[in-house]
Amino acid sequence: MISLLCLTGTITGDIIMIIITSIWTMAHRKSKQKEAIIKVLRGTSSHPCAEWIYEQARKEMPGIGLATVYRNLRSLKEAGEISEMHIFSDAARFDGNTNMHYHFCCDRCGKILDLDEPIDATIETKIARRTGLKVTGHHLELAGLCLDCQEAESDTGNSVQR
Ligand SMILES: [Zn+2]
Ligand SMILES: [Zn+2]
Repeated sequence: MISLLCLTGTITGDIIMIIITSIWTMAHRKSKQKEAIIKVLRGTSSHPCAEWIYEQARKEMPGIGLATVYRNLRSLKEAGEISEMHIFSDAARFDGNTNMHYHFCCDRCGKILDLDEPIDATIETKIARRTGLKVTGHHLELAGLCLDCQEAESDTGNSVQR
């Protein structure tokens, strides 16, 4: 590098330094964006959609764009650092918890909760044996009313009775 700078002169050397610095800055900015998105996802158990993640990430990185958030979510998903899910709706929701786990989705408010329930792997072997399909995993989503919505429902019930 030093001999290259001597040969090509300081101007070229400066340009090389500028290029190196800007590549570093760009790479640094990119990893910062990724970090901000992971931080948002690891900090919530709400399984948010991309728009919500964008709103939160913007608080830390005001310059971040929605397209950047989408791009990062895609690459984080490909790297297995987060998972994407589609539950009862078309909007993708994201999960920072990549350990296999079951979900409960509230029919009323759309809240998605992680269930602390052991994974039943026997269903995979049972179905594989019966159908000959190669089963590589399974997802389980239960539906119903969350505690908040049940409470709201019983509150409304009480006020009607009064
Ligand atoms: Zn609910
Ligand atoms: Zn989850």
